[in-house]
Amino acid sequence: MVKKVLKFGGTSVGTSERIQHVAKIIKKERSLGNKIIAIVSAMAGQTNELLRLSKEISEEFNKRELDVLLSSGEQVTCALLAGCLINSNVKAKSWLNWQIPILTVGEHSNARIINIHIEKINKYLNEDGVAIIPGFQGISKNGDITSLGRGGSDATAVAVAKIFNADICEIYTDVDGVFSTDPNKIPVAKKIDKISYDEMLELSSLGAKVIQSSAVQTAMMYDIPLEVKSTFTERKGTKIFSQENIDYTKSVTGVAYSKDDAKITIIGVEDKPGVAANIFEPLSKAQINVDMVIQNISSDQKTTDITFTVKRDEVSKTKKILKGNNEIIYKEIIENDKVAKVSIVGAGMVSTPGVTYRMFRALSDEDINILAISTSEIKLSVIIEEENILKAIKKLHTIFDLD
Ligand code: ADP
Ligand code: ASP
Ligand code: MG
Repeated sequence: MVKKVLKFGGTSVGTSERIQHVAKIIKKERSLGNKIIAIVSAMAGQTNELLRLSKEISEEFNKRELDVLLSSGEQVTCALLAGCLINSNVKAKSWLNWQIPILTVGEHSNARIINIHIEKINKYLNEDGVAIIPGFQGISKNGDITSLGRGGSDATAVAVAKIFNADICEIYTDVDGVFSTDPNKIPVAKKIDKISYDEMLELSSLGAKVIQSSAVQTAMMYDIPLEVKSTFTERKGTKIFSQENIDYTKSVTGVAYSKDDAKITIIGVEDKPGVAANIFEPLSKAQINVDMVIQNISSDQKTTDITFTVKRDEVSKTKKILKGNNEIIYKEIIENDKVAKVSIVGAGMVSTPGVTYRMFRALSDEDINILAISTSEIKLSVIIEEENILKAIKKLHTIFDLD
């Protein structure tokens, strides 16, 4: 007997037929004698639709009420799946986040699970029931409903796996596993059989939405074995675990991309100590996440240009803060929000010289200009014009032997 957490994403529960199919997967697991906690997302497209409705009321929709609204998507799929299992003679019951409760801290739309009460659900599992829990949500210490950020059902699954001491957490989705790059964009992408937490964390933070990065981070912290697999095929998925268990034959494991970046350049800033701190401190206080930063060498020893990237939807807030900042003197601010970030990730990079220049050469062969660069031990990211993104991913995928 194994205790398993099974998470089903939006496409997997996107129609009543698919929910019936998910019920069959759970029934099979039960017939093997496993204890099952299922985490469900809202039906595909539902969270976007609820967001759209809130924007029809107001672009600045109240954050508390937005979480009440968005959490309803998962309530629907919980009930449909539990009802479906009961009809198939499988003992099952759904719980809403506040009935458990799932306790969170942090802001609305970006909360984090800190605890889950386990007694009721453990008792139910011991009575051979399947527990169905909504992903993506919880309640704050004031009793308000919170949500965990987009893709947050993965975070719920990993937190549940940890707190219930599950043997494994399986993420069921609409692709066969984690691929060398998005298989829906690059059809020659290959499925990866095993990947380390570190690499998966880089890939998902850099745009591979197959699993949410905070979920990977929690799994890594508590050494929770993860498997990403398809709801629709029986093919073997991708196992995610710690690095010692993996042999690296390739320098690069995967290519990730994101199209939600923007580049801001402050031209003619005074070149003296403290200026960078004066620019970035107010941004960080306003919760704006600055990614890459480049400061040009000052040609006249008096002024310089500082370029940095932020998420595209934070450009206007960033500019407003910069313009209202009396601590800095500059000539002008320019922005480019038609940029994208392409990254190569691989634990094998540490022991392979020349990866950096091969990436730059490959992009230059395709006439792609690099606008900013950032590196870590196991990743290399560049900002390029958005129109070049597909060309760049294809080229990098090929030259690093991933096709
Ligand atoms: P779910 O609704 O099941 O949570 P998501 O849409 O959040 O599914 O994530 C699955 C999607 O992630 C796939 O359909 C695929 O297009 C995308 N994706 C991006 N990068 C990768 C990658 N490296 N490997 C697999 N899928 C990826
Ligand atoms: N339904 C939420 C979303 O679309 C959470 C999830 O699917 O993981 O972001
Ligand atoms: Mg997802």
